[in-house]
Amino acid sequence: MTIAPSPPRRWLRRGLLALFAALALLAAIVVVNTLRAPSRQLEPGAFEPLAVDDEQALEHLAAAVRLQTISPEDPADFDPAPFTALHAALERAYPKVHATLTRERVADYSSMYRWQGSDPDARPIILTAHMDVVPPGDLERWTHPPFSAQRVDGALWGRGSMDDKGGLIAILEAAEAMLAAGITPTRTIYLCFGHDEELTGAGAQAMAARLAERGVTAELLVDEGMGITDGLFPGMTQPLALVGVAEKGYVILELSVEHPGGHGSAPPEHTAIGILAQAITRVEDQQMPASVAGPFRESLETAGPEMRGPIRFIATNLWLFEPVLLAVLLGDETTAATVRTTTAVTVIEGGVKANVLPSHASAKINHRLNYGDTVQDVMDHVIEVIDDPRVSVSLVAGNEVSRLSSTDAPAFEQLARSLREARPEIAVAPTLFVGASDARHYEAVAEQIYRISPFIMDEADVARFHGFDERLREEDFMAMIQFYGRLMQLE
Ligand SMILES: [Zn+2]
Repeated sequence: MTIAPSPPRRWLRRGLLALFAALALLAAIVVVNTLRAPSRQLEPGAFEPLAVDDEQALEHLAAAVRLQTISPEDPADFDPAPFTALHAALERAYPKVHATLTRERVADYSSMYRWQGSDPDARPIILTAHMDVVPPGDLERWTHPPFSAQRVDGALWGRGSMDDKGGLIAILEAAEAMLAAGITPTRTIYLCFGHDEELTGAGAQAMAARLAERGVTAELLVDEGMGITDGLFPGMTQPLALVGVAEKGYVILELSVEHPGGHGSAPPEHTAIGILAQAITRVEDQQMPASVAGPFRESLETAGPEMRGPIRFIATNLWLFEPVLLAVLLGDETTAATVRTTTAVTVIEGGVKANVLPSHASAKINHRLNYGDTVQDVMDHVIEVIDDPRVSVSLVAGNEVSRLSSTDAPAFEQLARSLREARPEIAVAPTLFVGASDARHYEAVAEQIYRISPFIMDEADVARFHGFDERLREEDFMAMIQFYGRLMQLE
C-alpha cells in the first residue's frame, strides 16, 4: 500500500518540476542564441599594399622620436625649438608630400595639410595625429633612454613612439608612398597634426575652427585611440581593435563647508572638516548607477560572436546576463570604469592650526562621465547623496560625453574593413574611449569621428602609455602605414 503525498508536498513537486522546465527552456534559448549569433566582422577586400622602404620609414620615425617635442607640466616651460626642428625634418623626409599638398601652420606650431582629391563632390577625410609628447619622467626607469629611439627586439623604443609619433609618421609615409606610386586620392584628404594635444588641444581647436570657416564637413575623421587589444578582452582569442565612437565626459566638482571657527577647547560635534568628511564618504559609497549601455553594449554584442568560453554565452545573451555581468565588472576598478561614471576625490583642503577650529574645508572630485550620464546628472546625484545643506556643491569644470558616432554609417564599415585589410587576423568592435583626445574638437567639421591607434597592445603595453619603456613594434608600424594608405584611398 502506498501513501499519497500530502497536497502541499505535491504542489512543491509540481513547482519544482515547473522551475526545472523553465530553467531548461532558458538554457536552451541561451545556447541557441549563442550558436546563432552571427559574426559581424567584414570580409577584407583585395588591397594592393603600398610599396614602402621599411628601413627608411623606421629611420624617419626614429628621427621624429629623437626630437624632444615635450608638452611640459607648466605651459610656461614650453620650448618651441624641437617643434620647429620636427617641421624641418618632416619637410626633408617627405619631399613629394610637401611639393603636392598645401600646408599651413596653425596656432604657431600645428600643421594642417590639404591634398586635393580627384572627385570634387566626394566629402573629405580628416586624419589627425599629434606631434607633442608627455615628459619622460624618471629617466632611470627607462630600459633605453627615452629620446634615443633605439631599435631593439623588433621594436623602436622611445617617448612618443606609440603616442603619437607612430601615427604621425605612418600617415606621412603612406601619403609619400601613394605619391611615389602616382596615386591621387578620390576624396580630398586633410592631415591635421596638433602640437599641444597633451596640454589643451589649442592647436586642434584652431585647425577645426579654420576648417569650419571654410565650410568643410568631412565624411570621416580618424584620430588616435586605444590600441588593438591583445589578451585584454575576456574570451577573445584574436586581437580586437576597439574603435572609440565616443569619449567619456569629464567633471570636476568642489564641495565646500563654511562653519563658524573658534577655539579648539569647545568644539561643536562636527567641525567643517568633519562635515566635509561625511559628505565625501557618502559620495564614494553611493556612486552613479552602472549600466551596460551605448558603445560598451555594442562592444560586447559585436565581439560576442568571436569569443570563446563562458563569456560568449554572457555577451550574446545580455538580455539575461546583464545583472551578473555588471556585478562582475564592478568588482574590478578597470572594468568598472567601462560601465559607470567614475568618482575620484582628488584634492582636500581645510584647517590651519591644530588648536583652531577650521572655518572652511573643501574637496575636489573628478568624475569621468559614462555614456548616458550628463554633467547635470552628476551634480544632482552628488547633491542628493550628500543630503546636507551645510555642504555646497559647485561645478569647477565640465565636459559632456562627446557626440556618439554611428556604427551603421558607411564610414564605420570602411574603417573596419581598412583595419582588417591591413591586418586580417584581427576583429573590430566599437567602444567608449575612456581617455581624451584631440578628436572631440572636430565635432563640427566631421560627420563621423573614430578613435583607434592601430598597433597591437597587450597588458604590458597599457602601462607604456604616458609611462616608461614606451615602444612601437616595427611590424605594427608597417601595418599602420598600410592602414592609413587604405583609408586615404577610400572612394
Ligand atoms: Zn596621444
